[in-house]
Parts: sequence; structure tokens; C-alpha cells
Amino acid sequence: MSGADVVVVGGGLIGTATAWRLAQAGLDVALVVGERSLAASRVAAGMLAPVTETTFTERTLLALNQASGERWPTFADEVVDASGGPSGLRRGPTLSVASDADDLARLRTFADYLQRQGLAAERLTSRECRAHEPLLAPTVRGGLLVPSDWSCDNRVLLEALTTAAERTGVRTVTGFVKRVESDADRVTGVTLVDGTTLAAGSVVLANGSWAAQVEGVPDVPVRPVKGQVLRLDPGRLPGPGLTVRAFSRGNEVYVVPREHGREVVVGATVEEQGFDDRVTAGGVYELLRDARQVIPLSAEYAIAETNVGWRPGTPDNAPILGPCALEGLTLATGHHRNGVLLTPVTADVTAAYVTTGVLDPVAEPFALGRFDREPAPTRRLRTAGSVA
Ligand SMILES: Cc1cc2nc3c(=O)[nH]c(=O)nc-3n(C[C@H](O)[C@H](O)[C@H](O)COP(=O)(O)OP(=O)(O)OC[C@H]3O[C@@H](n4cnc5c(N)ncnc54)[C@H](O)[C@@H]3O)c2cc1C
Repeated sequence: MSGADVVVVGGGLIGTATAWRLAQAGLDVALVVGERSLAASRVAAGMLAPVTETTFTERTLLALNQASGERWPTFADEVVDASGGPSGLRRGPTLSVASDADDLARLRTFADYLQRQGLAAERLTSRECRAHEPLLAPTVRGGLLVPSDWSCDNRVLLEALTTAAERTGVRTVTGFVKRVESDADRVTGVTLVDGTTLAAGSVVLANGSWAAQVEGVPDVPVRPVKGQVLRLDPGRLPGPGLTVRAFSRGNEVYVVPREHGREVVVGATVEEQGFDDRVTAGGVYELLRDARQVIPLSAEYAIAETNVGWRPGTPDNAPILGPCALEGLTLATGHHRNGVLLTPVTADVTAAYVTTGVLDPVAEPFALGRFDREPAPTRRLRTAGSVA
């Protein structure tokens, strides 16, 4: 049986960045990668969007998202130094726009909320929106410019992190972990699906939507949330200059350009369909319809790729970080819609927990134990639109 100080399970952004940080700390690390082509980390749009991605009910998560956003510039510089290649980071801004009067009302309500939270967002008229992004439809009613929401080409980042990890001494192991082995509630290693065993006193579970499938670990409430995205190629046509998010006739769509200009990501559907991997006619139709409503020229771009990915969803949409009942097993999963954004802070706090046994205060609200608490009694509120 071969072994390592730490086995990291999962070769997406979270597992690869964590393995890199652990190797930087001087540990002998084996990274069991699974199937990288299926990773959400390759499908994602790569928005780094603590502000435009926030919702009225996710204030605890907002703090973690902001903490990770602040780490991004330094993290990206370190990735460049360690890999010798680009990190994929593209520095902001993001423009959120509204298509019709109802969408505008929704955007204004959101803008009021951001203001109450002290989050920077500049309200723009329709004309001002088009000055920032000339490809916008003249019908756009108004918008919000958010300077702190950037983007990253997540495929470029995953490649760079893979190189950085290997150069720092991480051993890549091809295959899937079937079971985390333990003795007297203490981790002793892992067994792979092909029967290979790896001895280790420490295991990091970072396999995204598949976390609940690994045997020998406590119950981890992670489920796959299907998302379809399109990758369009503008060819010789101009592409958008910045990330555009839209409330478009009651739907939501985003259009994320890459630095090189040959790829525009349009997303995304949100579907509770388990690991269904079908690209559907309806999904593609809705994404193209909503993108064209906001950026008419997008209808003339070539469809380069259609993708399906699975966001690792949790009951409160926040990640699961740190310890669990099994000593030596550290969790780094459940990053749902924000895993690209959360890569720097997750890698830092997970590596620090493995090496010191201390969970960074920024990660404390996200430990698995939060799901053990008694649920608070819920009061049903009647809203203007409720029928029940
Ligand atoms: C359509 C879509 C759009 C998104 N857009 C954004 C965005 O704009 N911004 C943002 O921040 N986030 C976004 N996300 C979310 C983000 O992609 C995820 O939160 C993040 O990629 C999760 O990373 P991960 O490394 O935990 O999991 P993954 O990237 O899914 O990687 C998990 C890896 O583990 C492997 N694996 C599985 N089981 C095992 C096993 N038993 N043993 C070993 N390996 C195993 C898998 O094969 C896979 O390679 C999006 C997601 C989707 C689906």
C-alpha cells in the first residue's frame, strides 16, 4: 500500500487549489482527480461576483464570498508565478441590466438592498448602460454597474492550478475514491474503485457534487444542481466588452466574454434533475432567446459548445468547510453557484485546518455541524403574490 500525508479527493478547482496549498506547506500530497472533463469547474461561467450573485437570504454567505473576492488579486498573481502561465483573471466590471418595466422594478429593489448592505453599485440610465456596453439592445431600461464583480476563465485557471500543484510536488492519481477508510473513528486512508489503497492520516473531501457518493464518510448534504451553458464564438463580429447580467422578461441570463474575444459564455439553467447530462432543446432555446433580448448581435455568433455541469448544492446554498465527526477527514465541498469565486479562500482555510487543526473564523459558519441544529420555527408570511 502506498501512502501520503494527505489524500485530496477531487481534481476540480477546489481540490486542485487545496492540494497546491498543502504541498506549499511542505506536506506530501496525493490528489485523486476523478474525471476532470466532468468537473463543474470546467463548465462554469467563471463570474467572481459576490455582489451581483448575492440574494436577500444569503448574508452569511456574502461575507465569505467577499472574503474570497478580496483574496483574488494576490491568489491570481501567485498562480501565475507558480505555473508560469496565465491565471484567467479578468478585472471587472459587471453590468446588470433590466429588459422591461417589471425587470427594472426588480433591479431597483435589488439595488436598494445592495445599498443597505453598503455594497458599491452605480445606478445607470439606459443611455449610460449603452455607453458602457455598445452591444446592448436599445430597449434595455436601465442598469447597475458593479466595479468589484470580475470574472476568470475557469478552464485557464484549472490548467494553471494543475501545473502549479504538480510543480510544487503534488502527486496526481488517476481514478475515483470509493471509500474513506478509518479505524476507531480516525481516518487511515482511501480505497479507489479499482482496489488501489492509499494510506494517509488526513483526507480532504473535495469532489463537488459527488461528495455524498463516497463510502465511509458522515452524511454530507450535497446534491447536484444541473446547469446548461453555451459557449458562443463571435468570429469576426464584435463581442461584448464586459460581463452583462440581465433580468430579461422575468428570466435571468448572463453573458461573460473572455479576454481573448473568441468565447462568450451564456448561462445558465438551474435544474433539479440529479445527474441528468442532457443538453435540451428547451434549455438552449431559452438561453439564446434571453441573450438575444439583451445583446441582439449574439444571435449571429456561432455555437461553439453546449455544456452541462452540476453545481454542488447544499440546503442553504453555502459550502461545507472544515471538520466532521470522523477525525482526519476535512470537508471542502458544496460550493454551489460560487465555487470559482470561493476557490482562494477555500484552499487557504482548508490547508490551514489540515496543518494546524484550527478552523479560520471566516469559515466557522460553514462547518457541517450547522445542519445538526434544530430548525427555527418558520412563520408563514403572506406576500402580495401569494395564493396559498
Ligand atoms: C452551469 C454552471 C455555471 C457556474 N458558474 C459559476 C460562476 O460563474 N462563478 C462561480 O464562482 N461558480 C460557478 N459555478 C459553480 C462552480 O462551477 C462550482 O461551485 C465549482 O466548480 C465546484 O468545484 P469543485 O472542485 O468542488 O467541484 P468540480 O469542479 O465538480 O470537481 C469535482 C471533481 O471531483 C471528481 N470526483 C468525483 N467523484 C470522485 C471520487 N469519488 N474520487 C475522486 N474524484 C472524484 C469529479 O470527477 C470532478 O473532476 C457554476 C456551475 C455550473 C454548473
